[in-house]
Amino acid sequence: MKKIAALFLALLLSGQLSSVIAAVPPKKKPKNIILMIGDGTGLVHLYAAYTAQGGKLNIYEFAAAVGLSITASANDYITDSAAGATALSTGKKTNNGMIGTAPDSSALETISERAHKNGMSTGVVVTCELPHATPASFYAHQVSRKMYTEIASDLSNSQADIMIGSGKPYFDTQTLANNGFTVSTGLAAMQQNKGKRQVCFTDADSFPAKAPLRGDALLQGSMHAITQLSQNKKGFFLMIEGSQIDWGAHDNDSANVIDEAIDFDKTAGNVLEWAAKDKNTLVIITADHECGGLTLHGLDSNTHRPIMHFSTGHHTAEPVPVYAYGPGAEQFSGVYQNTDIYYKMIALLSLEKKKK
Ligand code: MG
Ligand code: ZN
Repeated sequence: MKKIAALFLALLLSGQLSSVIAAVPPKKKPKNIILMIGDGTGLVHLYAAYTAQGGKLNIYEFAAAVGLSITASANDYITDSAAGATALSTGKKTNNGMIGTAPDSSALETISERAHKNGMSTGVVVTCELPHATPASFYAHQVSRKMYTEIASDLSNSQADIMIGSGKPYFDTQTLANNGFTVSTGLAAMQQNKGKRQVCFTDADSFPAKAPLRGDALLQGSMHAITQLSQNKKGFFLMIEGSQIDWGAHDNDSANVIDEAIDFDKTAGNVLEWAAKDKNTLVIITADHECGGLTLHGLDSNTHRPIMHFSTGHHTAEPVPVYAYGPGAEQFSGVYQNTDIYYKMIALLSLEKKKK
């Protein structure tokens, strides 16, 4: 039975879905790419935020192209965040739980690492612990997402230019300093952090606060990172994650899903406004997978919020939307595998050739 399931999954993943438009050369290539990942954020999570805000969502207003990403992992119809992020960061489907490694445990070069080798600046901004699955998959190579100590060590030894998030207790700040990072703790200290390479812990705790309690940590962190990274004339690659939309969905907590999605969209609005002025930056907004099997059953006449129903406390197989804005955005129309997002980004940044 297991064998048949594996065979079926292989068939599913081999599907030739890449749209015709992908073969059309881009009108203009971007200098920078900002990849925004709403963890667990399906079509409906953002529509719930749109509804709660009275029919307003920055992501909808800016989206120039919309596509659909198929998220199945190498060994499961339903991905986890490790395999989901590794697909986006390396272009390879891996097994659930694996961070920046192939199913055979070999390390895979990530887009951040390749961009660095080509002279670009790179970074991550998240609302979870930095060694958590999504940010980890852009710089670490470990067979299990649970290996927090090893992942923190990979991050400490990485070539990242900026890492902003929680999880300070997992790190040895002396090791970070030895590796060239200027370390700060708290949002006020982050604004004062003038280091060439920075690790900015948004708080001193291991566990980050939920929205809206953590304030504008994601927005401030994202704009601080952009200010820092955009100084590089060769361009930058930045991954920004709304990490906790997924957690709200696991908890089937409607209010929290909306608060986290609004926080993510508020950040996206500022990022997109910056990109609109810059004119050389492609912003891609997507998810690693859906979480909660969320549907909206109506509108609550008192709260004017949608009546939300979760069909599960886990992830689902639903394809997730991809919204793109800026030079090269048209490449993201169509229906494709999550790994194609990596190949589209690599082609747009002219990083096809592997550099040692
Ligand atoms: Mg995540
Ligand atoms: Zn999850």
